[in-house]
Amino acid sequence: MSSSTNEFDVIVIGGGIMGSATAYQTAKRGCRTLLLEQFDLLHHRGSSHGESHTIHATYPEDYYTDMVFESSKLWREAEAEAGYRVYTSTPHLDMGPANGVNLQAFKAICQRNSFPVEALNPSAVAKKFSGRLSIPEDWIAVYTEFGGIIKPTKAVSMFQALALQRGAVLKDNMAVKDIKREEVRGGIVVYTAMGDKFRGRKCVVTAGAWTKKLVHSITGHELPIQPLETAVWHWRIKEGHEEKYAIGGDFPTFASYGQPYIYGTPSLEFPGLIKIAVHCGCLCDPDKRPWLPGRDLDSLKEWIGGRFLGLLDCSTPASTQSCMYSMTPDEDFVLDFLGGEFKEDVVIGGGFSGHGFKMAPVIGRILAELVLTGSADGVELKHFRIGRFDENPKGNVKEFADQVGFIESPN
Ligand SMILES: Cc1cc2nc3c(=O)[nH]c(=O)nc-3n(C[C@H](O)[C@H](O)[C@H](O)COP(=O)(O)OP(=O)(O)OC[C@H]3O[C@@H](n4cnc5c(N)ncnc54)[C@H](O)[C@@H]3O)c2cc1C
Repeated sequence: MSSSTNEFDVIVIGGGIMGSATAYQTAKRGCRTLLLEQFDLLHHRGSSHGESHTIHATYPEDYYTDMVFESSKLWREAEAEAGYRVYTSTPHLDMGPANGVNLQAFKAICQRNSFPVEALNPSAVAKKFSGRLSIPEDWIAVYTEFGGIIKPTKAVSMFQALALQRGAVLKDNMAVKDIKREEVRGGIVVYTAMGDKFRGRKCVVTAGAWTKKLVHSITGHELPIQPLETAVWHWRIKEGHEEKYAIGGDFPTFASYGQPYIYGTPSLEFPGLIKIAVHCGCLCDPDKRPWLPGRDLDSLKEWIGGRFLGLLDCSTPASTQSCMYSMTPDEDFVLDFLGGEFKEDVVIGGGFSGHGFKMAPVIGRILAELVLTGSADGVELKHFRIGRFDENPKGNVKEFADQVGFIESPN
């Protein structure tokens, strides 16, 4: 490729965590890389902002467990290169009804992968977390030392800084509106809403909740990636008990399987507050969001009251932050070629369904390898192909329940 300022080997569209991790990977492989972001870099209007996303390997699908372990290594390598930390290790605890299929499935998978987990009955939970957490009599919990918290905005910034260091070009306030094939010279041309034009040999689309819209405007094809608006809530720990839930002690990140699915982290970003949220959201247009989905928090408040032994003020959240998921029908990612006239020159990374952040380093590697070589090492991509929705509109067949709940839009 010539050295014109508007010509690149790889153009990555979308500067969230997936696009930033991909740009780092392509730049690291010596490719002249351009990352285009429609808003300001590090904005809060997508999915990759905030202070605490969890990393855990307890998945009922073993392909995710493998990806989490590889990512954990890659997070540490990136941190070493950057010279600062974005990932704090903690233990992790899953809990739910003893007969729940998800808990049983990932317990079996963890044991098969020689990944040490400890099954705890209610009295063992009470003992381990001495007066801080309790589960009902007919529940079990699964405890593992492997878990942690990643700081999202700082992690996006880290991959962008590493990509820059490797020679990538980052441009923000560049909304891509179309991609076309370059018939004569080969490769692709990317057009922005402001009239800019960039040529690339290859392109990766990591547009988060905008993926469906962007792909539709490029190809007319409807990808089943549905934006959902969701929120995270922080709750005040009662005075004198703050240290019991603070990061750096033995309190774990946690997930409670059931209706609804609830998750949380030890107290980290706001001293004296602890994050506890429901894994659900309401359908939205990413360009016309309701901002802060009106949500009935009664079941969450009841859950907090029951699990945290009255040590949290669950009358009202102390803070609320809004964010978007991009959901596929089976909650599996889309990592594939766009195909059609673009063949293998354009790759899509989307549909991360509210659980992709922890795997961003490996997803960046996969997307970079796919676009540069046509295949990705050590990953079975059949779970992530777009074509699975042609065979079955619900995608991959699962033996366990969906994790994310859909709620009515307040609008
Ligand atoms: C509340 C919440 C909690 C979560 N917790 C966890 C967790 O604990 N653990 C975990 O693993 N995952 C978690 N996730 C999921 C994780 O955050 C997402 O999977 C991940 O951030 C998706 O990143 P992305 O890069 O695909 O999307 P985004 O971060 O949205 O990035 C896409 C980017 O593309 C840009 N863009 C879109 N269209 C265009 C265009 N036309 N031109 C240029 N730029 C464009 C957007 O502006 C955006 O910056 C959570 C998500 C939310 C919302």
